[in-house]
Amino acid sequence: MSQKKSILLIYTGGTIGMFKGDDNSLKPFDFEKLTAEIPELNKFDIDLNAIAFKKPIDSSNMNPKTWLYLANLIGNHYQSYDGFVILHGSDTMAYTASALSFLLEDLCKPIILTGSQLPIGIRRTDAKENLITAIEIAATGNTPEVCVYFEYKLLRGNRTVKINAEHFEAFDSPNFPPLAEAGVQIKYHQKVNYKIGNPLKVHENMSSSVALLKLFPGISLEIVKSLFNSNCKGFVLETFGSGNASTNYEFLSAIESAINNGKIILNISQCLAGAVSQGLYETSSQLEKLGVISGKDMTTEAALTKMMFLLGQDLTVKELKRKLTNSLRGELT
Ligand code: ASP
Repeated sequence: MSQKKSILLIYTGGTIGMFKGDDNSLKPFDFEKLTAEIPELNKFDIDLNAIAFKKPIDSSNMNPKTWLYLANLIGNHYQSYDGFVILHGSDTMAYTASALSFLLEDLCKPIILTGSQLPIGIRRTDAKENLITAIEIAATGNTPEVCVYFEYKLLRGNRTVKINAEHFEAFDSPNFPPLAEAGVQIKYHQKVNYKIGNPLKVHENMSSSVALLKLFPGISLEIVKSLFNSNCKGFVLETFGSGNASTNYEFLSAIESAINNGKIILNISQCLAGAVSQGLYETSSQLEKLGVISGKDMTTEAALTKMMFLLGQDLTVKELKRKLTNSLRGELT
């Protein structure tokens, strides 16, 4: 006899939970209203419960504290549910998905983040489809990892980037194929070998001592040096193409002294697709020689949150560097 699945909806904020009030202004999430607005939710043969942040936030206000709170919330409800759907603003959804993937080790249940470009009460809203399908996917249990579902595509969370502020198709994962696509049927593409069995481990620390340095032709050396001289420990360096940077002597010296001072520098590409390959060009072999770590094909969102996560653990520098180059949760190829 198949048991009824149970799903917990967590509303953090964002357009998806907004309703037009009588005065035409947008009002935040109310689960009763949600089910009134989407009666299809009552047709699910699923136990659906919902909780909402006391003060829902625009996703621009997400930060490591909120990610730790969310990870804990899931940890506390983990045994009681088969899956989780997080309703989240789209702007920083890729960061939250990446952060949660690192914070929740040995995850065996799906966590699907979704949102929408238009509020739920609006006629042409994309919220309905996104929400209904996200719940359906969570209930199947087919993808026991942190995912983003948006506009007919299920993407690995830590491979996801927001690519469009206007189109309904707002997300993509350029370096990893979709886990599933929703058409007439939901087709699961990836044959992922999930390691199921270990108990969930919820990590409790993240460091904010990280910085993102996006290179551009003509970048001021003063700015680069002052950033490296700050008390940040980990730097994500967004370089050109396959991981290339200026060979200017002073620039490379700044990198060298930062590394000698114990800073960790992770090289990722500014390109949406493709990977860093240090040593392919002369303009990246210097970085390799100086001890810059290749972030391979990680997204900026994954690189930053992975750095925050690893710096928050009690690791030796050697261990930290090893973990940065290896895939922990499928975030790099
Ligand atoms: N600014 C909103 C947010 O990210 C946009 C959205 O809800 O998609 O919270």
